Amino acid sequence: MRIVFLGPPGSGKGTQAKLLAERLRVPAISTGDILRAAVREKTPLGMRAQAIMERGELVSDDLIVALIRERIAEKDARNGFILDGFPRTLEQGRALEEMLAESGESLNASVNFGVPESALVERMLSRARAEGRADDRPETIRERLRVYREKTEPLAGFYATKGLLAEVDGVGSIDEVALRVDDALASVRKAGSRS
Ligand code: AMP
Repeated sequence: MRIVFLGPPGSGKGTQAKLLAERLRVPAISTGDILRAAVREKTPLGMRAQAIMERGELVSDDLIVALIRERIAEKDARNGFILDGFPRTLEQGRALEEMLAESGESLNASVNFGVPESALVERMLSRARAEGRADDRPETIRERLRVYREKTEPLAGFYATKGLLAEVDGVGSIDEVALRVDDALASVRKAGSRS
């Protein structure tokens, strides 16, 4: 299964990506986690990404697409993956489609997590207290949400027109949302098999 998780920052998609990846025995690939590790290790990628991430803006499409191309070519991703935080722009969505097509593959589904804005801010602030993420500060949170609405939300339409979109209500316990993810994926698969 090759699945993309969409949803605003703080929607719980990272947690759900890890859980679904365990259930499907495929890797959960988070571009945010890869970038944060690069920042910690002060690699050239990390040096370029750090200031951009701290402002809540997006790292360039070229850089991220190259990073994903390398990551999904690794052995553990051969039978599938859950992408968490990629694609984040239509350009990245198109690049992903092309890179999969090159090896005769395609996406199976895109899961979009819906959570009201007030709950998102609350979750991100509590994550800031728990994990100390540099981009979970109130000013940066607002910018990340704005960037999400402008650049990433259009991907829901992009996948809907391809019949790949599954909408999931992201409000509830981790277990409740995980069940909804399974149901949503089953319905996308059923719809796909009819067409
Ligand atoms: P995340 O953990 O997914 O919220 O990502 C944290 C930050 O990493 C984002 O605010 C961006 O600055 C950067 N980032 C992560 N994924 C991407 C992506 N696909 N495209 C551009 N920037 C990204």
